[in-house]
Parts: sequence; structure tokens; C-alpha cells
Amino acid sequence: MVFYCVKCREKKDTEEFEKVTLKNGRPACKAKCPDCGTGMFKIVAA
Ligand SMILES: [Zn+2]
Repeated sequence: MVFYCVKCREKKDTEEFEKVTLKNGRPACKAKCPDCGTGMFKIVAA
């Protein structure tokens, strides 16, 4: 899945992500940037 890293300001493609639910109940995916380790989030369509 492709995530956007705000620190690298680049899109990162990673297979290592986990599904999470945000506080507002929306499903999202969480991953770590393979280059800098910054957490990346992505809202997924319900
Ligand atoms: Zn990064």
C-alpha cells in the first residue's frame, strides 16, 4: 500500500502496515516509513 511520508515528502510503498480505527470511528491504516521511521497514516474508504 502506498503511504505519504510527511517527513520525506514522498510517497512510500510498503507491505508492512496494520489496520487501525481512529478515534472518530473511521478505519485507517498505519505504517512506518522504511527510510526515516516516521509513522504514516492513511484513511481507507469504509
Ligand atoms: Zn520518511
